[in-house]
Amino acid sequence: MNAPPAPWTVMKFGGTSVATVERWQTIIQQMQRCQANGERPCVVVSAVTTVTNRMSDCINEALRNIQPSEPGCAFQQVKEVHLKLIAELGLNSLAEDSSTPNASFYISGLQVIHGLLDDLEQLLNGVRLTREESDPSASPRIHARISAFGELLSSQIGLLAIRSAGVPCVRLDSRRLLTSTESTTQQSEDSFLEANVDPTIDAVLVIKEITRSCKELSSVEGGAPSGYAATCGVITQGFIASTPKGSTCLLGRGGSDTSAALLAALFDAKRLEIWTDVHGLFTSDPRHVSNTRLIRDVSYRVAQELASMGAKVLHPRCLIPAAWAGIPVEIH
Ligand code: ADP
Ligand code: ASP
Ligand code: MG
Repeated sequence: MNAPPAPWTVMKFGGTSVATVERWQTIIQQMQRCQANGERPCVVVSAVTTVTNRMSDCINEALRNIQPSEPGCAFQQVKEVHLKLIAELGLNSLAEDSSTPNASFYISGLQVIHGLLDDLEQLLNGVRLTREESDPSASPRIHARISAFGELLSSQIGLLAIRSAGVPCVRLDSRRLLTSTESTTQQSEDSFLEANVDPTIDAVLVIKEITRSCKELSSVEGGAPSGYAATCGVITQGFIASTPKGSTCLLGRGGSDTSAALLAALFDAKRLEIWTDVHGLFTSDPRHVSNTRLIRDVSYRVAQELASMGAKVLHPRCLIPAAWAGIPVEIH
């Protein structure tokens, strides 16, 4: 008889939690902790801190006819942030050193990152060349498509960092799983920038595909220990989804929490962990208010109210799918 599949734990890491080598070490340690407990980690990442804001700067500069190749422009800053992180994680050396086991994985993985940066540059040039002097604005559709590059880049860099630590992991494009629902009365801006996703989508096919990729991975990694494929992790993007017609859309600023909750519901996860830069949910913002109190345990409803009133550590919409599927949410 087949053993029951290992349960999923979904862990979401925000912008500051994916920005440095030390933070990636934490992600890797947390994945290993899950795997040692016989669980499958699903890591949902935000864009590296400040990158989503800089994507908006990139669009605004393109609308002001600034070329993305111009030194010091927002696109060059975005590029620099990612190339610096890649270098600090030692990924170039792994690709360049022919004695690295499976060096071709790092070579092609870095090509994906350079391909993403090239695509982003081309899109920005497209915005620049097609702008109207009389009405310099970008459509919500192009805004969503460009903003998505932050999470696409961080998740690809993360995949390479995780695998370089010997942790089995595959990358999933979250747009394949999360499809938005559109209503006839919805504004185009909302359907691209503040999209709604229903947690009831059938995830079976995608989960089967993930399982197949994990099995393939364990056969590529010769001599992989038993359990390698069974608890193989997944890294995917927060914030982004696809519209019913297949365009990229966003779940609103701070929406990676919602992506993680939706994925936890779809995977019927044991737990959703939100990893961030504060130690939990407090009675008020601990970074601005002294004597604030840590809330140890709270109902979904009260947490939702606090989030709606500005407790930014949780996106107000993220508790809906978690409550719907009864997934415990922890803040770390
Ligand atoms: P991430 O990038 O990890 O998603 P966010 O900046 O979105 O992080 O959320 C974490 C921030 O939420 C904290 O740095 C903190 O300043 C802020 N925050 C506001 N209100 C609260 C609260 N009541 N409890 C905890 N954090 C809060
Ligand atoms: N990167 C997106 C933002 O900055 C989503 C997120 O961080 O949750 O809004
Ligand atoms: Mg957030």
